[in-house]
Amino acid sequence: VLDITRVHKTFGKGQTAKEVIGGLSLHIHEGEFVSIVGPSGSGKTTLFQMIGGLELPSEGEIRVNGQLINGKRGHISYMPQQASLLPWRTVADNVELALHIAGMKRSDAEQSALEWLDKVGLGSYAEAYPGVLSGGMQQRVSFLRALLSPQRLMLLDEPFGALDALTRLNMQRWLMSIWEENRRSVLLVTHSIEEALLLSDRVIVLSASPAVVLDEFEVPFARPRKESLWTDELFNA
Ligand code: ATP
Repeated sequence: VLDITRVHKTFGKGQTAKEVIGGLSLHIHEGEFVSIVGPSGSGKTTLFQMIGGLELPSEGEIRVNGQLINGKRGHISYMPQQASLLPWRTVADNVELALHIAGMKRSDAEQSALEWLDKVGLGSYAEAYPGVLSGGMQQRVSFLRALLSPQRLMLLDEPFGALDALTRLNMQRWLMSIWEENRRSVLLVTHSIEEALLLSDRVIVLSASPAVVLDEFEVPFARPRKESLWTDELFNA
């Protein structure tokens, strides 16, 4: 699904040039759930922006489903670190629009948006504007936009950062249940190694900037551990 081959990214020119990504290669297979951990400022967001076609690699290539992306918007769903909701559209519209742009029929998108806002505890904010939501609430809306989009590759940049512990568990659970259902490929950036071990099949460890892959390992027994954790009792308590 995703092939990144010897990608470099340098910002600026001449004396002020700064190499942020230093020849990075990684491959994500169809249906795989991979986490990336790495020091702050190592270039993870820059990497995601390149995969999303928002930044151009200085060298190397990025392919999504075999198609060369380098600077082109690919068919991915991307949840950026800072929720970027449209301030002049209601919360429901924000979710609905993302689903519609991703190819869902308008009526289905509308229904799906309202159902899910209810599930994440934001049903009463459906007609409100994003400006009145707290940071954590905006993050939940942004998460829904990525989660419900039907693209096969989902990029999540610190999706659970600003959430309280219980909301975080619930979000992780929805992510896992949607992932189990339709086996999309997920690339998750997290600062929490525990979260990486809990959720993913494989963990990629990046070096400090200029980022390269330092280490990469499969998570042993990922499936059984997951199933035992996502029980209803935990959430209905
Ligand atoms: P964090 O974990 O703290 O979010 P990160 O790993 O996502 O960090 P990036 O946001 O990708 O790191 O930034 C990596 C480096 O690239 C930083 O030193 C940053 O200052 C630099 N950088 C990012 N975007 C630009 C830009 N447009 N111009 C110049 N430098 C940039």
